[in-house]
Amino acid sequence: MTNEKEPTLTREGFRDDILHHLKYTVGKDRHHASVYDWRLALSYALRDRIVEPWFASTKATWDNDYKRVYYLSMEYLIGRILEDAAINLGLKGLAAAALLDLGQDFDVIALDEPDAALGNGGLGRLAACYMESMATLGCPGYGYGVRYEHGLFRQRFEMGQQAETPEDWLSQRHPWEFERPESNYTVRFKGHMEERHGKTVWVPGETVIATAYDTPIVGWEGRWSNTLRLWGAKPTTLFDLERFNRGDYAAAAAPETLARTITRVLYPDDTTYAGKELRLKQEYFLTSASIKDILRRYLESHDDITELDKHIAIQMNDTHPALAGPELIRLLVDRHDLPFEQALEISQNVLGYTNHTLLPEALERWSTWLMGSVLPRHMQIIEKIDAAHLKANPARPASIGIVRNHEVHMGELAFVMANRVNGVSALHTELVKSQLFPALDKLHPGRVINVTNGVTPRRWLKLANPGLADLVTETIGEGWEADLDRLEELVPHIEDNGFREAFMAVKRANKAEAAHWMKVKCGIEVDPDAMFDVQVKRIHEYKRQLMNVFETIAQWHEIKKNPEGDFVPRVKIFGGKSAPGYAVAKEIIHLINDVAEVVNNDPDMRGRLKVIYPPNYNVTMAERLIPAADLSEQISTAGKEASGTGNMKLSLNGALSIGTLDGANVEIRERVGAENFFLFGMTAQEVIERRKNVNHAREAIEASQALKDVLQLIAEGRFSPNQRDRYHGLVHRAWNSDYFLVTSDFTDYQRAQAEVDAAFLDPDRWARMAALNTAKMGFFSSDRSIRGYMENIWGARSAL
Ligand SMILES: *Cc1c(COP(=O)(O)O)cnc(C)c1O
Repeated sequence: MTNEKEPTLTREGFRDDILHHLKYTVGKDRHHASVYDWRLALSYALRDRIVEPWFASTKATWDNDYKRVYYLSMEYLIGRILEDAAINLGLKGLAAAALLDLGQDFDVIALDEPDAALGNGGLGRLAACYMESMATLGCPGYGYGVRYEHGLFRQRFEMGQQAETPEDWLSQRHPWEFERPESNYTVRFKGHMEERHGKTVWVPGETVIATAYDTPIVGWEGRWSNTLRLWGAKPTTLFDLERFNRGDYAAAAAPETLARTITRVLYPDDTTYAGKELRLKQEYFLTSASIKDILRRYLESHDDITELDKHIAIQMNDTHPALAGPELIRLLVDRHDLPFEQALEISQNVLGYTNHTLLPEALERWSTWLMGSVLPRHMQIIEKIDAAHLKANPARPASIGIVRNHEVHMGELAFVMANRVNGVSALHTELVKSQLFPALDKLHPGRVINVTNGVTPRRWLKLANPGLADLVTETIGEGWEADLDRLEELVPHIEDNGFREAFMAVKRANKAEAAHWMKVKCGIEVDPDAMFDVQVKRIHEYKRQLMNVFETIAQWHEIKKNPEGDFVPRVKIFGGKSAPGYAVAKEIIHLINDVAEVVNNDPDMRGRLKVIYPPNYNVTMAERLIPAADLSEQISTAGKEASGTGNMKLSLNGALSIGTLDGANVEIRERVGAENFFLFGMTAQEVIERRKNVNHAREAIEASQALKDVLQLIAEGRFSPNQRDRYHGLVHRAWNSDYFLVTSDFTDYQRAQAEVDAAFLDPDRWARMAALNTAKMGFFSSDRSIRGYMENIWGARSAL
């Protein structure tokens, strides 16, 4: 699609735009404007530039009747928007220059923006990358989500322990969205069913209004723009005047309370199933409003509802929006009078399901009692779907069934309702077939396919690492941002000394900047020439931050035993939040902070070992730390990390990985070459075998003096001198259960870490390996992922 060429925007023109918004939109005089005021003015000036391509994209989609893709996700971990929008519009340089004329600093203003943290971790960040890539590729579509009043909590450390405070990104004006009070839908809950004139009618007990807030998502070079539509909740009646007048104030305010509650908070955990009524209501709130909006839009330009599957595709990001199936059937049957069988078939043709986890505790199940009371009509429909599936597959083994043991299994529901189910890395997809849904996979061969995750290079290279981005452009020319495979053209340059020096100079500058930030943030001085060894991600047992801490303690112990020895200086950098109710993860956080306290205050460690754990890891911190990383810790228990995307971001920014054969690590290693990846640990199959030995932990510890010492030091209270028994439980579990096999993989991990040290001692070799990581990451662009979805799942075509 080509736009009318706009008159060229000049520095003066853009300066005037900013001043106009400062005065007329923000209502501030330039001499009294704060950074916040300038940020709003700049945001509005930039947003104006998105509106044209946004309208043009919408119009082109209507005019050409393009197939539309709808991405349903309970989470979007977006981060800051301003700089990303400026870069995609090609206006960052101009904006910075215009601001300079006004005595303002672009970077300061960009950093004033709070992160939009409507997600927990990888799953939500993936949705954000995918929205950006869909816009870049001109894939006509919408993202649908929930406009949480409070996103992911803010993390602080109090005496080394995680404390949570609410996040309040909406307490300030949010300049990127447009409220759409005219786009609203009533969402129903509870109540009962009645038969009226041969039709089943759902008489709801509670209702709430979903109202739309639209944020335009602009792609690279502003060629296409899609919409992220987030649903806010409003009460159906402001309050019940009759009840109010009778003095029953609490009951009178019930609709308002329900509305406020539904979009109040993001559930701060996507790795465990929460059997909570509010969570179910949130999921249905998103799903119902979105499906109604999708049908409304379809019927505005089509008459025949049975042709729906030719014109739209709906993707379910995990099972959280899996009520999309029953909801679509309900609307087709109850409102559009289609027979159930036809409604089922149309719905299946429209839906796709992305599975994100193999952790059994994360698979959503709802008791039939709860489902039946919150969504009585859906419970009926789910039973009909299950019965129809059984009838169509009489050989279906008893082990499957959407409804089993008085529970609705959302994974099975999503699988049965989708025409394509996808895993998110090659290994994960194999495990989805062989371990998670083996029986369903046999019944529906070919339904499960792979789409390996990706990350957007606009944010994770161009924005986060301008130094490296500029070096790439100088070396291979422009255009790699939307064609990341071109990074491969760097390979011949790696032989060039000058290139390697420039590459490492960028890394050194990023490390110096990060070191300065850590000094300000944590009060700890680190040497930018030490190895920056980074593990940033949610804190979870399967991700095995504990193994990293054990290794840190072992290293500390080595240095203590041999204070005159030669050691490769390392800065161990951790970042990540634990779910508030996840006690074991919180204990790991406490231990990391306790170890940091001892290590950082030990004179023997000077110039050798530091441990840094800045609180409140989020997208903005990721953008800071990832470009400064030398080593990327991707050390999950094999078979547990579905894909990972942090691994891709770090490699793209020239960090070497130390990792297991898990998730997308397998594919990263294939591409960078085995000699450029520090592999260790058991394979997914070996993990299963190992667990059969009930003494695995004890045997592993007995076989390693270093590990035995580590556990002894922790047990003695060396890192918790004011509470020596603090970690008795942790040490006991390491000896006796250790489900995630930290102890069994520890010795091999240490071996790999020694190899890392050896490589780091040879700067030239390290530079080659690091540059090769960047050069080989083209495959992991989310543009490649989205092309895969468009071709193999959505049947959608680019409008560009
Ligand atoms: C990329 C990212 C994640 C996901 O990291 P993994 O290492 O894949 O778990 C989580 N949080 C933030 C803020 C991210 O940017």
